[in-house]
Amino acid sequence: MTDSDPVDLLLQTARDEAGPEEFRVTGVMMQYYVVCKRELWFHSRHVEIDRGNAAVVRGTHVDETAYADKRKHVSIDGTIAIDVLDDGRVMEVKPSSSLVEPAKLQLLYYLWYLKHVVGVEKSGVLAHPTERKREGVELGEEESEQVEDAIRGVYNVVTSDSPPPATEKPVCESCAYHDFCWSC
Ligand code: SF4
Repeated sequence: MTDSDPVDLLLQTARDEAGPEEFRVTGVMMQYYVVCKRELWFHSRHVEIDRGNAAVVRGTHVDETAYADKRKHVSIDGTIAIDVLDDGRVMEVKPSSSLVEPAKLQLLYYLWYLKHVVGVEKSGVLAHPTERKREGVELGEEESEQVEDAIRGVYNVVTSDSPPPATEKPVCESCAYHDFCWSC
């Protein structure tokens, strides 16, 4: 575990300036951080359980065909993969408004990463194709602090020796780790 700020460690890693300890955060890690920190911990340990496609069951599955003609996939550092619309905005597609919070943090993280690692400032749009809704997302000072707090939170979770305790929530039923948490 580092003594320095995990935000600095993440930036040093992205710029290939980190020492022996590297720290990367993907978009899906940001989502797990909001949805369930225990799930994030299992994910960070590469615990893979074949329980069908949890994302499909849960409804977090992204419709790859939505806006397909208007967006380009861009991968950066092998860490984040973003969709850029024709107008230059970064888009995140979510099928349901009930999962807005994790999707929004993921999108804000992408905007933050683009600004601090790539040196490009972008606006974002959160799209809900099934509800025909689009929400503009901007990275202001408050949102940057929210992202940086989340980066520190992710670091604390993934560097813990044991997972956070299970707390029952609606997503548990469709979670790949359900049996780890709730089977006696
Ligand atoms: S079953 Fe529930 S508590 Fe356990 S990892 Fe999944 S979401 Fe978290």
